[in-house]
Amino acid sequence: MTSVIVLRDVRPLGGDPRDLVLAQGVVAAVTPPGGGELTGVVADAAEGAAGGTRRGPLVVDGRDLIALPGLVDLHTHLREPGREDAETVESGTRAAALGGYTTVFAMANTDPVADTAGVVEQVWRLGQDAGHCDVRPVGAVTRGLAGTQLAELGAMASSAAAVRVFSDDGHCVSDALLMRRALEYVKAFDGVVAQHAEEPRLTVGAQMNEGATAARLGLPGWPAVAEEAIIARDALLAGHVGSRLHICHVSTAGSVDIIRWAKAKGWQVTAEVTPHHLLLTEELVASYDPVFKVNPPLRTKADTEALRAGLADGTIDCVATDHAPHASEDKETEWAAARPGMLGLETALSVVIQTMVATGHLGWADVAERMAFAPARIGGVTDTVPDPTGFAQVGAPATLTLLDPQASRVIDPHALASRSGNTPYRGRNLPGLIRATFLRGRPTVLDGKIV
Ligand SMILES: [Zn+2]
Repeated sequence: MTSVIVLRDVRPLGGDPRDLVLAQGVVAAVTPPGGGELTGVVADAAEGAAGGTRRGPLVVDGRDLIALPGLVDLHTHLREPGREDAETVESGTRAAALGGYTTVFAMANTDPVADTAGVVEQVWRLGQDAGHCDVRPVGAVTRGLAGTQLAELGAMASSAAAVRVFSDDGHCVSDALLMRRALEYVKAFDGVVAQHAEEPRLTVGAQMNEGATAARLGLPGWPAVAEEAIIARDALLAGHVGSRLHICHVSTAGSVDIIRWAKAKGWQVTAEVTPHHLLLTEELVASYDPVFKVNPPLRTKADTEALRAGLADGTIDCVATDHAPHASEDKETEWAAARPGMLGLETALSVVIQTMVATGHLGWADVAERMAFAPARIGGVTDTVPDPTGFAQVGAPATLTLLDPQASRVIDPHALASRSGNTPYRGRNLPGLIRATFLRGRPTVLDGKIV
């Protein structure tokens, strides 16, 4: 693979067209389209990259393509080790690259659980071997996700995987004292605790959002207050101990209000929303198709509107996929027996375009902030995705993705890279296509296909 790449006529963050030269992992030159000096720069870069031997650069026609920073997902389930039938690090990161991602944070609810240095290093190495994007393992907060004893947070932080994000996701750290201890502990290495906010006593047997629709369908409800009570408690704890708290998959209008209040207090509270909670509502449950079963559950139209407004005004910092592949025997079954969770990596940007860009809530620079710069700051990976002012400037990491905003596609589960097929968007026509993705100057996707 040639190590010098010229991106012709791309629009960084949707702005004016530029030619970018990528060499040796960084942006080596930026000029107006067809800039006269580009030829010489390319030749120099090619010479340097090839150690003196001239090689032709790879030229990508970027007309009408928007260059965004490589996307960063704080919330991915890669299922390895333990459920390689549903997803592997290799297949999940392939899906990530095709979706424009260059970093994913792999959740800890694997088998065995990622609660020791050994397991997080295993996942990290699998990511390096696959090479499609950076994999940053999330460490469990409690041993075995059992919620009773703190896991080896320090050992995971100082391991080769350098864990900075800790979460029992799938389970709530419901014990207030354990949550306080975890928040105190991670301060030593600027870590963050990412909470799956669900008061477990309020959601026993829950099958969908609590409300009139659940009553009509005869399904036990998952009340908004079960999420909001934990967010309020943990925001107070984070403020009390001066630590960083991140709220996973915010799903209710009330949660947005509480996070807005916590931020106004000056506390270090950040939050994410999933694409499916921005677009889909509880009405879909009436089909009893388990592809729409997810935790937290799909909520009401009023909730999706509050989540969009919260993401637009920055109360919600970022979009995270909660990509949750499930094998068909766990998903294509009766509603009550089906596992909660949906695929998300290959459709996230498209759903954000539909819900946030096409509706006028966000521009392209805002999308870059919500899907790359902010999650990079929260997860501590600013070495790869540095900051908005440096993006596509000379010397910046050549970690970016090229989006065709005019193209669209009908989602076919069989055409996705994931090993599982549980996408809730089957048959939907979604806007936007990723044409290419680059990780530190190396293409991981070209012409919409894995390299
Ligand atoms: Zn969760």
